[in-house]
Amino acid sequence: MNYVGRFAPSPTGPLHAGSLVAAMASYLDAKAHHGLWRLRMEDVDEARTVPGAADAILQALATLGMQWDGEVVWQSTRKALYAAAAERLASHTYFCGCTRREIADSRIGIAADGADVYPGTCRKGLAIGKHARALRIRVPAQDEPNECISFQDRCLGELVQHLATEVGDFVLKRADGFWAYQLAVIVDDDDQDITHVVRGADLLESTPRQIYLQRLLQVPTPSYLHVPVVTNHAGEKLSKQTGATALDLTNPLEELARSARFLKLPISASDSLTHFWEQATAEWAKRFLEK
Ligand code: GLU
Repeated sequence: MNYVGRFAPSPTGPLHAGSLVAAMASYLDAKAHHGLWRLRMEDVDEARTVPGAADAILQALATLGMQWDGEVVWQSTRKALYAAAAERLASHTYFCGCTRREIADSRIGIAADGADVYPGTCRKGLAIGKHARALRIRVPAQDEPNECISFQDRCLGELVQHLATEVGDFVLKRADGFWAYQLAVIVDDDDQDITHVVRGADLLESTPRQIYLQRLLQVPTPSYLHVPVVTNHAGEKLSKQTGATALDLTNPLEELARSARFLKLPISASDSLTHFWEQATAEWAKRFLEK
């Protein structure tokens, strides 16, 4: 099988217990399939990029014995590709002049990812006195093709999402001028020939939006597998904001064993990184390899 997977961290802080789980799952899936594992730095949101974080992530992966294939791809250098994709989507996009507050005040509903569903105010053109802020893509109305997107997650089964009611017209280019994650991720997955996406379940609800964009751009949809996310004791996804600390890289085997336990991979104590990865790959293959 021609398998190409990837790990796509946002360099907003060093690798932590939560991001290591996503890295490990995507790495094991690639190894179990004898495929490639690419690395993409998702620094598209330059406002959130933390200086030094990308290097710390690369260093941590190397210390943990996770070798990536090919050059690291940096989203901040790929704006022309995102602009070209947005151009190809032009018949479906429009400029929006609404502020966050205006959208929240319209209260038409909360989207699957917790944001407010956009009420469509600027769909027919900017209201007088409004300036273009974000570029949005129109999602199909309830009776149009692609309104309902479903896909089969390799871990979680079928997910069905109605874009019009559960998401609303979403942003491709943000008011601060940066390209949105939803566009950048599908452009890059396509450009890097990614066949299998393995990532945290916090992105599950984003997948139908990404499939919608893939269909409009007529690019292939990879297969998806979302793994559970590590949370803190308040039940919040582990991130720098919710108190995640950097991994203790003086003891890589212990950090790896902890992530493997989280992924419910039964692994005995390892005395080397090679032994750990061999065992973990075999256990992953038993569970997730396509029959
Ligand atoms: N950059 C995203 C994150 O760090 C992951 C994106 C993806 O895997 O699609 O949460």
